[in-house]
Amino acid sequence: MITLRNRTEIARIRAACQVVARVLRFLEGRVEPGVSTGDLDRWAEEFILRHPGAEPAFKGLYGFPCTLCTSVNEEVVHGIPTAERELREGDIVSIDVGVRLDGYYGDAAVTIPVGEPSPRARQLLEATKLALQRGIEAAQPGAQIGDISAAIQETVEAAGFSVVRELVGHGIGTRPHEEPQVPNYGRRGQGVRLRAGLVIAIEPMVNAGGHGIRTLDDDWTIVTADGGLSAHFEHTVAITERGAAVLSALEEG
Ligand code: MG
Repeated sequence: MITLRNRTEIARIRAACQVVARVLRFLEGRVEPGVSTGDLDRWAEEFILRHPGAEPAFKGLYGFPCTLCTSVNEEVVHGIPTAERELREGDIVSIDVGVRLDGYYGDAAVTIPVGEPSPRARQLLEATKLALQRGIEAAQPGAQIGDISAAIQETVEAAGFSVVRELVGHGIGTRPHEEPQVPNYGRRGQGVRLRAGLVIAIEPMVNAGGHGIRTLDDDWTIVTADGGLSAHFEHTVAITERGAAVLSALEEG
């Protein structure tokens, strides 16, 4: 079932998303060689809990043990933070975080270079960020999910990279994952019609090599099948009469 949200509900989702945006900005300033993914997770949890009423949304979700998903290099998504996983110069780390606030959810992700990225890694990050931007631009009232999917896929493939098929974006609101699914590949003019009040998380996962993935023995971490790099960017977006509103874009002040 697809739920459309009114202005009051969207304002509440936006409030949760703003905590997410502030966590990500806080962490972006702290990613450097020698920091562990476990450090990032602890800092994120403390940051979220300092905000009255806010809680980490991923911790305990489907049994996930942490506040963040931290996915380094060939890890695509759902990496588990640990004190042992120290970031090194030249790594890229995807940080995905969800927050629950007053019964509503926000969700966003960024992939951050540790120190100076390789030219290939930089291109991958730029292409994935651009794909998310193109997907958001396609999220207009009256358009369809396939318009978002196709915009993302075309942007990624034009850059010579490939889109992960098995994992998708999603509706979000009073649950962290709702209908509809938002695939990162597909065709224009297909899928659910976008109406004002629909709130979705758009999240391209992009591999530098082939699109294949596999799951590690921890039953969580998804990695590229060929060992190539992978990047992930995500925003929570509301469809409004005037177009897409990016609820998880950081608002100053
Ligand atoms: Mg998500």
